[in-house]
Amino acid sequence: MTRIVSHTTTKKIDLLALTLPQLQQWLKEQGEPSFRAKQIYNWLYTHLVTDFAEMTNLPQSLRSRLAQEASIGPIVVRRELHSKDDRTRKILLELPDGKLIESVLMLYPPLGESSARATVCVSSQAGCAFGCTFCATGQMGFERHLSAGEIVVQVLYFARELRKAPWVARGLPDSKPIDHITNIVLMGMGEPLHNYDNVLRALHILNSPDGFNLGARHMTVSTVGLVPAIRKLSQEPLQVHLAISLHAPTDELRGQTMPVNRKYPLSELLAACEDYIAATRRQVTFEYVLLAGVNDTPTHAHQLGELLAPLAQFAHVNCIPVNATAAGYRPPGPEAIRTFRDILFQHGVSNSVRAERGDDIAAACGQLRTHFDTSKS
Ligand code: SF4
Repeated sequence: MTRIVSHTTTKKIDLLALTLPQLQQWLKEQGEPSFRAKQIYNWLYTHLVTDFAEMTNLPQSLRSRLAQEASIGPIVVRRELHSKDDRTRKILLELPDGKLIESVLMLYPPLGESSARATVCVSSQAGCAFGCTFCATGQMGFERHLSAGEIVVQVLYFARELRKAPWVARGLPDSKPIDHITNIVLMGMGEPLHNYDNVLRALHILNSPDGFNLGARHMTVSTVGLVPAIRKLSQEPLQVHLAISLHAPTDELRGQTMPVNRKYPLSELLAACEDYIAATRRQVTFEYVLLAGVNDTPTHAHQLGELLAPLAQFAHVNCIPVNATAAGYRPPGPEAIRTFRDILFQHGVSNSVRAERGDDIAAACGQLRTHFDTSKS
C-alpha cells in the first residue's frame, strides 16, 4: 500500500483526497487508532463539516492535531452566479496555487416519473490539453491536473449549500425540496480520463458507503475518446456511466473540430466502446453538439446512424444544440433537429435532446472558462 506522506512542516494533508483505507493508514502512521477514520469520514461526508472543532466524538487532542496537520479541501470561492431561474449556479474556485476552475450545479424539478435531481458538473483539470474548437475551456490550454481532493470539494461545496438551504423550484412550491446531490457529471473543465488516477480516486471517495455514498450509476465520466483509458475504465469495479464526446460522424469532420481524432480515429474509438459494452453491459452515451451547417445535415445523421447501429441498444445519442461561444458556431433550428433525430431513429439509434442550462451565466457545456471578472471580488 502507498505510504501517505504528511508534509507537516510545509503543507497540510488534504483529507478530502484520501479514500477510507488511505485515511485509516494515515491515522495509523500518526499513532491513532484506525477506527477514527470512519468517524472522520462520517463528519466530512454525512455531516458535511468544514471545521475539525465540530468533530465532537473525537478526543480534543486529535482534533487539535488534525487542525495543525490536515485540512478539509482548502478552496476559496471567488464568485458565485445564479441563473435568472435559479436552476443553475456556477462557482469560480481558486485553488491553493492560484489556479481558477469552475463548477456548476444544475437543479431539476420532478418531471413525470422522474424525481428531482441536483447534478454537479465537476472540473477535473485547470484548462485542457485537447483543444476542441467549439469548447471555451479548450482554448485556454492545459494548466494542470486537479488532485482528488480538489475534485471532491467541488461536490461537497454544493452539497453543503443544499443542506443549508434546500432548493424548491420557483412556481412549484408544492414540489419536494432538494437537499442533497443526486448526480455528478465529469463534464466541466478538462478531460477526466487524462487525469485518470485522481478522477477514479475522487469517484471512489464519493462512492464510499461510509461517507458520501453516491451510487456509481449516478456518476458520469465524459471523455473526448482516450482509447487506452476507456479500455482501462471498463475493467474497474466502479460501474460509472460513460459518455463519449463524439460530435462528428466521420474522421475528416471530427478531425477538424477535435484534434484528438488524429490520435484515436473513429474506428479505434468505436472498437474501444464495443469492448467497454461487452465488459460492462452498460449503455454508452454519445454526446453530439449540433453545429448548424457543419455536422447537422441529413447526410451527417445517416453517417452517424450507420456508425452507431452496430452497438444497437447500447448506444444513445445526446443531441446538444451548440451554445453561443467565441468560436462563432450557431445552433440548428427545431426543424433541422427533428429531421436529424428522426434519421437516427430510422437507424435504430435511440436519442434525445439535452435541455441546455444556465446559458445566461455561461455555465452550459463548452462554455466553462474562467470568465468571471475576479477584479471585483
Ligand atoms: S470538450 Fe472537453 S476535451 Fe475538448 S477541449 Fe473542451 S474540455 Fe477539453
